[in-house]
Amino acid sequence: MNTATDFRALLISKTDAGQTAALVRQAMDSLPEGDVTVQVQYSTLNYKDALAITGRSPVVRRFPMVPGIDFVGTVAESQHPKFNAGDTVVLNGWGVGEGHWGGLSQVARVRGDWLVKLPAGLTPRQSMALGTAGYTAMLCVMTLQRLGVTPDKGDIAVSGAAGGVGSVATMLLSRLGYRVVAITGRSAEARYLHGLGAAEVMDRAALSGPGKPLAKERWAGAVDSVGSHLLANLCASTRYRGVVAACGLAGGMDLPATVAPFILRGVTLAGVDSVMCPREEREQAWQRLAAEMDVQRLEAISEEIGLARVLDVAPDLLGGRVRGRLIVDVNR
Ligand code: NDP
Repeated sequence: MNTATDFRALLISKTDAGQTAALVRQAMDSLPEGDVTVQVQYSTLNYKDALAITGRSPVVRRFPMVPGIDFVGTVAESQHPKFNAGDTVVLNGWGVGEGHWGGLSQVARVRGDWLVKLPAGLTPRQSMALGTAGYTAMLCVMTLQRLGVTPDKGDIAVSGAAGGVGSVATMLLSRLGYRVVAITGRSAEARYLHGLGAAEVMDRAALSGPGKPLAKERWAGAVDSVGSHLLANLCASTRYRGVVAACGLAGGMDLPATVAPFILRGVTLAGVDSVMCPREEREQAWQRLAAEMDVQRLEAISEEIGLARVLDVAPDLLGGRVRGRLIVDVNR
């Protein structure tokens, strides 16, 4: 039973003057409807959270909004049959932090159907070192595997490699025996990327402008979190029957491509969405992260900040100046 009367949270408000975000105290009775109340331990700062907090894109669908598309915490109260007080639970997506109050808060109230139990093998902090970026990276890996991309087929390109999705994808794929080519705009991060398991590091400049409809066949598969010309060029240079898993738009939402790679080389462009991903698949992704991730190395890709710092760091994340993952301790 939660006896606190209020809690700390980030709150995004909108007035005629525009959108603002601030650290506030909220009364417990201001929480939205839901059958599970969670005492949040950690959330994270994802690309989408930074878009919501800065107002750079219309991520927030209702105001005022507590951002935070993911969190881990302890169930304080539950009317849901699958969860009891004391359970440690993880949430990713389902529109939380966009249309329903999210995880950048000491307390969250959500639908139990949206929660998964923290898998054995991960601490709460490790689960948020992974966060939505890590869970999405696993969904991308599962997509490549489902579509037949095995390590013997050839190199895998990972774009936005020094970012959250890219860092975890690089770690997972190299651990599974794939030869990973990390594509980055930050050559200074080459050592970091080799440390995650990348066999090669490539400057993204070579792939960031308009390219040919078809280029030399290079990749057996790709994980792309950038979009735009980079995604188009990855498709154009993917080998016969290769697969490109596309999950992000850090470089742009457009896709200036032709159908040539699809109709002449049988390339598959597979979309990956983490938000509405069915429960069974997301549980599988979390189980696999717990089993297959080198959790010791998670420390190398993550930095921890307190709730108040989130507002300062969000623009840096959008500017591509944050490496790896940001864990947010909502209680400091
Ligand atoms: P990060 O900000 O951590 O990483 C993004 C990376 O993209 C940067 O580190 C940088 O990598 C690269 N990048 C940034 N700006 C540009 C640019 N202008 N042009 C080309 N590359 C750029 O974000 P995340 O890893 O958390 O998310 C990546 C993307 O995936 C985002 O668009 C996010 O919205 C999306 N996403 C989608 C999900 C889904 O369900 N489909 C779930 C989670 C994320 P480097 O410096 O190495 O080049």
